[in-house]
Amino acid sequence: MTTTTFVETLHGGYGQSFSVDELLFEHRSEHQELLIFRNATFGRVLALDGIVQTTERDEFIYHEMLTHVPLLAHGQAKRVLIIGGGDGGMLREVLKHSSVEAVTQVEIDQAVIDMCRRYLPGHSAGAFDDPRVSIVIADGVEYVRDCHERYDLIISDCTDPVGPGEVLFTSEFYVGCKRCLNPGGVFVAQNGVAFLQLDEVRNTQRRLSPLFTDQTFYCAAVPTYAGGVMTFAWASDNPALRQVAGAELERRYLAAAIRTRYYNPQIHTGSFALPQYILDALSGN
Ligand code: SAM
Repeated sequence: MTTTTFVETLHGGYGQSFSVDELLFEHRSEHQELLIFRNATFGRVLALDGIVQTTERDEFIYHEMLTHVPLLAHGQAKRVLIIGGGDGGMLREVLKHSSVEAVTQVEIDQAVIDMCRRYLPGHSAGAFDDPRVSIVIADGVEYVRDCHERYDLIISDCTDPVGPGEVLFTSEFYVGCKRCLNPGGVFVAQNGVAFLQLDEVRNTQRRLSPLFTDQTFYCAAVPTYAGGVMTFAWASDNPALRQVAGAELERRYLAAAIRTRYYNPQIHTGSFALPQYILDALSGN
């Protein structure tokens, strides 16, 4: 059998490649090109429009950091909104918190949910069937513009700002998220690999910071988001959420009784320390 190679097309002139050791699924939905294959190193890999979204081996880093950081910083979040997240990993991690009473997930492409339930079952691990969950198939920007629900945490777990994900990096989307947040709520979002997508960090700061009292970024290295640390956008009107003492974070983490493989309170606190090149970009240097 000849092994083919998947080369990621996100960054012009540079890309990571994976051997396609087994092609599992390939389909063009009304929104994007869906691909799942097995790779000897990373396990099953999901790519959308030629861009790696998640892999079995390293998904835990990204999903733990976009959920446990805002949830344990907030401390009392009961209602959560996930935009995107069709693979179900984000939902799985949010539901680990028994204090969370309701999760709405707004995903534009039913095919991603269906494909990931079948080929990446470990990502959702039954989360889609949790009674606290409601799934809405819609464009996230329209949902936050029109919905009557309010949330304590909004997580934008979207693709990169190309194709259907582009609208999730606009001021219109951020205004909608602000509208849907309860007082003291938090908005977090995947914001790309800063070393290669620094303009996306600048753009998010320019569009998001006028809407919130406290807007910044935090980061973590996710091996298959190639090129360095991935940045996560943070926005809240309660600066105290980023000042939670280490001992209190530790208490909340232990009280939550959740098992993690990347997140811990020290990583939480340290993740807000940004490399100088990102700080320089954010201060206009
Ligand atoms: N972890 C990945 C990353 O950081 O690249 C994201 C994973 S998840 C698969 C991204 C999801 O966003 C996909 O399921 C895609 O269908 C969904 N999506 C893209 N644009 C969207 C939109 N405008 N509204 C709702 N969901 C959207």
